[in-house]
Amino acid sequence: MSRFLAKKYRTHDAYVPGEQPRDKKYIKLNTNEFPYPPAPDVIAAVNAEAVSDLRLYSDPTAKALKDALAGYYGVSAENVFVSNGSDESLNFAFACFFEDGVAFADLTYGFYSVFAELYGIDARIIPLDKDFSIIPEDYIGLDRGAVIANPNAPTGKALPLSDIERIVASNPDRVIVVDEAYVDFGGESAIPLTEKYDNLLVCATYSKSRGMAGARLGFAIGNAELIADLELMKYSTNPYNLDSLALRMGAAALTESSKAYYEEKVGEVIRVREETAKALAALGATVLPSKANFLFVKLPNISGGDACKRLRECGILVRHFSKERISDYLRISIGTAEEMDTLVKEVEKIIEV
Ligand SMILES: *Cc1c(COP(=O)(O)O)cnc(C)c1O
Repeated sequence: MSRFLAKKYRTHDAYVPGEQPRDKKYIKLNTNEFPYPPAPDVIAAVNAEAVSDLRLYSDPTAKALKDALAGYYGVSAENVFVSNGSDESLNFAFACFFEDGVAFADLTYGFYSVFAELYGIDARIIPLDKDFSIIPEDYIGLDRGAVIANPNAPTGKALPLSDIERIVASNPDRVIVVDEAYVDFGGESAIPLTEKYDNLLVCATYSKSRGMAGARLGFAIGNAELIADLELMKYSTNPYNLDSLALRMGAAALTESSKAYYEEKVGEVIRVREETAKALAALGATVLPSKANFLFVKLPNISGGDACKRLRECGILVRHFSKERISDYLRISIGTAEEMDTLVKEVEKIIEV
């Protein structure tokens, strides 16, 4: 830290992303990336002409991408915001909507508390139930906004849409942000509710189910006035927040052919998830039911920290959180069937007594 850093940031703790090591090739199950490349249309969208066009600024209105997302999700373009990863949508939502405070779960996406602290927002941390479920009643009639990851991370558990609707309807004067980073792996999207409720903002991403984490593409869908507020933040910080290649790839990922490709690959991830869950449970592990592209798992006979270390030594990266309540758990992303076979075999070795 320099002696010049503004005082308000001197005690600020930044978000710590899962590692992206370059030293050797790992089976990488630590940051919930998709095990398959983007759809062929996405790859074809990056051609010599597209690269040549980098000479020009990208379209600040992102019109083509917004139109494509609006068509895909059955909303209007004015209901769509596009961002540099969904982290940027979340960032702007925290800046815009949580002046009176925000509520979120004790175990959820780690960035929420970072944004709250960055903007000096009072955060009410609501503990998950003993079985790691969100208790919907805790979010009824709040004195502040809320952000709910659905499915939640790192648990993988999902709330039914009826609970989300009850929460949104009970807080008509507060913004409820639903973070649907993992919705394509088995959750129910709240996007259709954005037509009915002007206080609901749904954030989503290309990082998890479209194999494009490196493209940094996210979006938010909600009432046109909420979207205009996010645009205000964007035009006040970074009007060209998406580069022109990302804009092209984003639209190409929504074609009929891409849709079919992703449906098949997402189906494969879900199938492998269920098989892996069964195999780990057969070894005596506690495995939470998951609607995401990862499993939250407690292994027998070994602590979470030790298991993470031992797996790393065998060339497998998984995520461990040192938070007390979950320090014996691992969050394991779903890779290919082959990668998960290797994982199960190595787990079998490290839990031997
Ligand atoms: C991965 C993730 C994000 C961020 O995704 P990006 O679009 O890559 O910024 C947001 N929310 C949750 C819950 C996530 O797991």
